[in-house]
Amino acid sequence: MFKLQFDEQRCLNCPDGACLVKCQYLDFEKDQAKAEMVKIFRGEDSPVFQDCVTCYSCEEYCTRGNHPFYLINEKREDKGILTAPRAITRQWINIGEPKGKFQLGELGKVALSFGFMPQLKEVAKGKLFEDVMPSYFFGQEFFCNVVYIHFADTKVFKERLPRVIENISNLGVKEVIFLHDECYAAFTSLAPAYGMEIPFKPVHYFEYLYKRLTALQDLRRPLNMKVAYQRPCSNRLCGDTHSYVQKIMDLIGVSLVPRTYQDENSLCCGSIFRAMYGYDLMKDVQSRNLEDMKQSGAEYCIFNCHGCMNALSTLVASQGIKPLHVIELCRMAIGEKPEPEK
Ligand code: SF4
Ligand code: SF4
Repeated sequence: MFKLQFDEQRCLNCPDGACLVKCQYLDFEKDQAKAEMVKIFRGEDSPVFQDCVTCYSCEEYCTRGNHPFYLINEKREDKGILTAPRAITRQWINIGEPKGKFQLGELGKVALSFGFMPQLKEVAKGKLFEDVMPSYFFGQEFFCNVVYIHFADTKVFKERLPRVIENISNLGVKEVIFLHDECYAAFTSLAPAYGMEIPFKPVHYFEYLYKRLTALQDLRRPLNMKVAYQRPCSNRLCGDTHSYVQKIMDLIGVSLVPRTYQDENSLCCGSIFRAMYGYDLMKDVQSRNLEDMKQSGAEYCIFNCHGCMNALSTLVASQGIKPLHVIELCRMAIGEKPEPEK
C-alpha cells in the first residue's frame, strides 16, 4: 500500500509553523502550530482534526516540502473522524467509480485531459487549442479522484489513482495538458507524495495558455478589463502555477484588482463546505468573498474551476459582476468571442 512521505524532522526544525499559523479557519500562534503538527504526526489527538475544513491551503503555506494537509487527512482517516456524513461521502465516491464509459479523441503524443468535467470539453476550442485538439480523453477512467481527500478518505485514491495512471499510460501519450487543477495536482503533488511514479509529463493549462497566447501575439488585443480572480481550493495543491494568472492577464491587457482575499489569502467557492459542514460556513465564506469582489471594483469574476463557477456565477452576477472562465477570457482577447457589453 502506498505510504505518505512526510519528513517529521522538518516540522521539529520548522522556523514558522506556517501551515497552521496562516490557516484562515484555525487560530494558532507559531509554537502551538508546530506543537499541533508534532501531535498529529505522532498520532495523538489534536483540535485540528475537528476544526480543519479541508481548504487545502496548508499544502501551499508549508514551504518546507512537507504535506501537512495530506498528513491531517491520513490521521483523520486512521481515527475514523469523518468530515461529512457517511451517506454524502458514499454518494461522492460512487460518482467517480470507473464504469468503462469514456471518450477518446484522435490521440497523439500530446493530449488534453478533461478529467471528469464535461464543461471542459466546451471551453477548449479555437486557435488556442488547435495544435493539440482533437487529441483528448474524458471520463471516470481518467478522473484523478483527488476530491476524496476532502472527505478524509485516502483509500479511494490509493486504489484508483494507480489505475488512472495506467489508463493514461496505455493511451501512449507522452505529455498531458490538464484543464483542471485537481487532476494536474494528482500527478505533480499527491501521487509523488505517496511514491507513485508518473510515466508521462503533466502540464498545467495555465502554462499552455501562456505559451499559446505568446505565440498568437498578432491576434491579441488588450481587453482593458478589471477582474477579480476566483482561485479554487485545488490550486493550493499546485501553488507554483498561480503566478501564471498574473502573467496571462498581463498578456491580454487585463487588470487584476487588488483584493483582501487573493493569492494566499484567497477564499474558496464554499461549495464543498456546504456538503460537509453545512450552509452557515458556506454562506459566511461566500458573502465575505462577494463583498470583497464588489468593494474591489471588479467588472468581471474570472474562474479557473467549473465547480467554483457553478457555485458562484449567479451570486457574482447578482452583484453586477460578470462571470467568465479564464479560457473564455483568453478567447475574447484573440477575437474569438465577443466582449460582453460594458
Ligand atoms: S508542515 Fe511545514 S510549515 Fe507545518 S510545521 Fe511542518 S515543516 Fe513547518
Ligand atoms: S486544510 Fe485549510 S482548514 Fe485545514 S488545516 Fe490546512 S489550511 Fe487549515
